Amino acid sequence: MHDPASSPSTAACAECPYKNAQKICMAPGGRHPEACPTVNQEAVLAAALAEYAKPDIAAFACRASIQEGAGYAERESGYAAVRPLKPRILEIAEFARRMGYSRLGLIFCAGLALEGRRAAEFYREKGFAVVSAICKVGQVPKETIGVKDEEKIAAGRHESICNPIAQAMLMNAAKTQLNVLVGLCVGHDSLVFKYSEAPCTVLAAKDRVFGHNPLAAVYTLDSYYRYLKQPLE
Ligand code: SF4
Repeated sequence: MHDPASSPSTAACAECPYKNAQKICMAPGGRHPEACPTVNQEAVLAAALAEYAKPDIAAFACRASIQEGAGYAERESGYAAVRPLKPRILEIAEFARRMGYSRLGLIFCAGLALEGRRAAEFYREKGFAVVSAICKVGQVPKETIGVKDEEKIAAGRHESICNPIAQAMLMNAAKTQLNVLVGLCVGHDSLVFKYSEAPCTVLAAKDRVFGHNPLAAVYTLDSYYRYLKQPLE
C-alpha cells in the first residue's frame, strides 16, 4: 500500500538540515531540501492563504501573531536582544481579551483538579466568565465503551471514563468562545478538539512522569531516558 509519508514531495520539515535563519520558509532567498513544502506545495499553501482571507479567520490569525510579538520585551533593541515576558496562562488571557471574548471554557482532568480550579480563578480574576467541566463528568462506566475490567487502572471497581465528548458538548451548550485544556490524556484531548465548536488551546499537556512537561522526555532521550527509544511492543 502506498504510504503518503514516504513520498519525496511530502512535507518533512522535522528533517530539514538548515538552521532556521537559512531556511527559505523564514528567509527570502533561503535554502531548502528537495522535499520542501514551501517550494513544492503550491496548491496547499494557496488553499491555506485563502482561509486566512476569511474575515473571522484573518482576525483570529492576526491577533494570535500580535500576541506572539507582544510576548517579548526589548523588541526595539533587535532580534538578538528580545526577552520572553509572559507565561502561557497569561498569554491565553491576553489573547482572549484581544479577541473580545468574555466567556472561556476550562476543560480539565480530574488528576489536575487543583490546577483546574486555580486556573479558573485566575481567568475569573482577569474578568472572564468561566465554564468548567472535569473529565469524569457523567460517571459513565468504562465498560460502556468496551474497556475490560483488566484494562482499568485498578481492576474490580467502578471507573468512570474520561468523557471529552461531554466536556466539549457542555462547552458548546454554554457557548464558550475559547476552550482551555488542562492536563487531558492523550486521545481524550483529541476528542475535545474534534467535538468542540469553539477554538481550543492547551494550558497544560499531561505527562504523568515528567510533571506535565512532556519535553523533559525529549531533552533526555539520548541520556537517562534512552530506554524510551526501544521499539514499541
Ligand atoms: S526550508 Fe522547507 S523543508 Fe526546511 S523547514 Fe522550511 S519549509 Fe520545511
